[in-house]
Amino acid sequence: MIRVFKFGGALMQDAEGVRKVSDIIEEYSCEPLVIVVSALGKTTNALENLLNIALKDKTSDETKNAFFKLKQYHLSILNELCPDNPENIKLDNLFIELWDALNEDYQDNYFAYDQIVSFGERLSSFIVYNYLKTKEIAIKTVDATEIIVTNNSFTDATVNWKMTTKTIEAKVVPSIESGLVVITQGFIASDDRGYYTTLGREGSDFTAAIIANIIDANEITIWKDVPGLMNADPKRFAETFKLKNISYHEAIELAFYGASVIHPKTIQPLKEKGIPLFVRSFYNPQSSPSVISSDSSSDEKEHKIILKDNQVLLSITSKNLDFISEENLTIIFKALSKHKIHVNLMQNSAVSFSVCFNYNEDKLNSLLKDLDSQFNIRYNTDLQLLTIRHYNDDLIKKQILGKSIFLEQKSRSTVQLLVR
Ligand code: ASP
Ligand code: MG
Repeated sequence: MIRVFKFGGALMQDAEGVRKVSDIIEEYSCEPLVIVVSALGKTTNALENLLNIALKDKTSDETKNAFFKLKQYHLSILNELCPDNPENIKLDNLFIELWDALNEDYQDNYFAYDQIVSFGERLSSFIVYNYLKTKEIAIKTVDATEIIVTNNSFTDATVNWKMTTKTIEAKVVPSIESGLVVITQGFIASDDRGYYTTLGREGSDFTAAIIANIIDANEITIWKDVPGLMNADPKRFAETFKLKNISYHEAIELAFYGASVIHPKTIQPLKEKGIPLFVRSFYNPQSSPSVISSDSSSDEKEHKIILKDNQVLLSITSKNLDFISEENLTIIFKALSKHKIHVNLMQNSAVSFSVCFNYNEDKLNSLLKDLDSQFNIRYNTDLQLLTIRHYNDDLIKKQILGKSIFLEQKSRSTVQLLVR
């Protein structure tokens, strides 16, 4: 049985979390196993913030404090897990490298983002690897940058499957065949010049799926701090239930609509090889997992609700009340793509075109600047995008109670409502 395990940052906020990860790995380590780890705790957010403040002023106290806080956090976890390990000095070296990277003059913020934010996974994998070594697990660390090759679309890189297959076959397969557990970083990769790239936020799931596909794994498990895949976020909805079985297709739909449980690109590589994905409870490993596979028998019986906050609705009209034509749509989509804006919902009428996407102040302003001369644009912020799969009228009524609806779209299986 060949397995791929992914452990997210929420499970590894402290030394205790890393110990638990190690317990699970130990239990499965007698069979072929690849481990994919994300950054510890909220490190990715902390690095995003560190980069933002460093871009404003590298020498400010704010920058230095944020840097030292992050360093202290990682050092304290490592020292607790591996006291007196002579290798620990390498973590200091990583922080020296991070400081130098922060002090570069970057021309391109997307490029800067990947060079800085990639440290999260480099740090976490170093710590987890060193701790696992103390457990006498036969383990090998392989840098994601050596095996996951992408183009240079920084922050949202596209995988070069041909190259990635070649490198994984050369660097991962022989190791697992010789009985070693392989650990690597999720989310990060490298372009063909050797610069760090990233696969988009929450991209570690996708890394695990890429590896599972190429090594022909029998199963992949995403360990979670929740009991499994839920039909809605239990923190926000009252009556939620665990989904025992959903199909790849259904999972792709859910990820597409913004269910934060799985990175949207994760499912395709698994579907292609028919590899089941288990979502398992980290805190209750013996409980039954949610399974994503080709079995679609439960899909339509169970409704799912996805709520995405912080949405913008842009309503675009052409200045002379021209029809929104193919030419105009091309201009709009080119601008969206240029600013790496992913559309969550769109709708058109004769004279206007509406698009909804995640709010990001910089991206929104750049987009408005680009389109301003040719179109009249109005926009609303602070909206929520509510999606219900396999809805019924009662469910819709209950969910929109007391809310104003800005836009509605319905298909046979899915209703989407933009509300406030
Ligand atoms: N550390 C990255 C993030 O927080 C990737 C991941 O966790 O999957 O987005
Ligand atoms: Mg995560």
